[in-house]
Amino acid sequence: MAAQSITKALGSQFKLGWKKLGPGEDQKVLDYGEKYKAFLNASKTERLCAENAVEMAKKAGFKSLEEAVKAGEPLQCGDKVYALHRDKSVLLFRIGSAPLNQGMLVVGAHLDCPRLDLKPMPLYEDSNIAYFKTHYYGGIKKYPWLTLPLALYGRVIQKDGKVIRIAIGDQADDPVFCISDLLPHLSQKLNQKKIADAFEGEQLNPMIASRPLSGEEDGTAIKATVLKYLNDHYGMTEEDFASAELEIVPAGQARDIGFDRSMILSFGQDDRICAYAALSAMLDAADKPQKTQCVILADKEEIGSYGNTGMQSRFFENALAELAALQSDASNSLEVRRCLSRSFCLSADVTAAYDPNFPDTHDMHNATFFGKGVAVNKYGGARGKSGGSDANPEFLAKLRKCFDDNGVTWQLGEMGKIDLGGGGTIAYMLAAYDMEVVDCGTPILSMHAPWEQSSKIDAYMTYKAYRAFFNHLS
Ligand code: MN
Ligand code: MN
Repeated sequence: MAAQSITKALGSQFKLGWKKLGPGEDQKVLDYGEKYKAFLNASKTERLCAENAVEMAKKAGFKSLEEAVKAGEPLQCGDKVYALHRDKSVLLFRIGSAPLNQGMLVVGAHLDCPRLDLKPMPLYEDSNIAYFKTHYYGGIKKYPWLTLPLALYGRVIQKDGKVIRIAIGDQADDPVFCISDLLPHLSQKLNQKKIADAFEGEQLNPMIASRPLSGEEDGTAIKATVLKYLNDHYGMTEEDFASAELEIVPAGQARDIGFDRSMILSFGQDDRICAYAALSAMLDAADKPQKTQCVILADKEEIGSYGNTGMQSRFFENALAELAALQSDASNSLEVRRCLSRSFCLSADVTAAYDPNFPDTHDMHNATFFGKGVAVNKYGGARGKSGGSDANPEFLAKLRKCFDDNGVTWQLGEMGKIDLGGGGTIAYMLAAYDMEVVDCGTPILSMHAPWEQSSKIDAYMTYKAYRAFFNHLS
């Protein structure tokens, strides 16, 4: 056998996704991109993501788990239920024919993304401008947030329980907010600093008003303008900020990138690209599966999965116990434990695509690239796999077969060079249940920047991979 044919016969065959599409599949990729962008535009916060995900699930026939529990309705094979947890995390289940203790097929993504949260007491005035104080959420580089149009989203809960929804900055005639930057002419001292030290969290204060309210004293008259606006439009007072969850995010819509419209520019693609893929795959998966299927859309991943809506909370186990109770007379914690330890899970989070503008960050033999499909990262962690979850080859073998047999373009890789850094997802928390888990998500560029970039083929292949996992993993 000639050397070249050995390469062809025995070498790895990872290829560009666009070249591997079946007849008519091009259009599916583009159509999926349109639906994904619409979801992004309607879902600028984790709460809006959760609300829209539940709305889509309900339209597809999913019923509330909470109501099934209240009614004591037993769940049968083919039943579809959702659980909305504190308006911020979502669980979806499609009940299989096998008993729950045989394990589930789980795809777990997160809905939260890096952003600027308003501080508990955000409103102040300085030098004839009113500002909001913010505390950034998640791991951001600060300078890309300067001089951008920004929007304000969130909810204020008043003492009587009344919920005020705020969304300002994304409608065509809405005003926006903005954080100023220092002009280059006066940046000589700033330019000497390291990037990590040059911009401080306390400087990320968007401008929100500059006209004094007549009849008010200088020094507080502009703050008074804001107080009046908030009261006129939302009926709120300054003390209502005490029970609010308000987020500053980039203003503007998801857009196509490129003459060929093959890529997407948007806020929040980490991890809504995988969350939307998981949701869509669950809604489109075949009826009456053998194993129960589960989608987890968690909150708080970007700050370590803490809090009662993060993956470290027990909400997932609690929902599973409810599910078990509705399916079997012998429901007990042992059933739930057996279910968890016999489950297979894709930890659905984005990874860092190789960026030719920053060529020194990846081992080119183990990088993931734009256009080569959904990425499987065998392990996460940093510097010696520390803190990561390392997937078992027994599971990876099943996954390879599932993807290859079902037209999924996928690639293997690491998140970056060994000693540079790294990252973690919710994989290790799910692995703690003794599930088989592997990181499997979309490679993106500019992760955690206000505007992240993705490839439409990779977004589509992520969806196709999760759907194949639900329908065909055995
Ligand atoms: Mn993520
Ligand atoms: Mn992230």
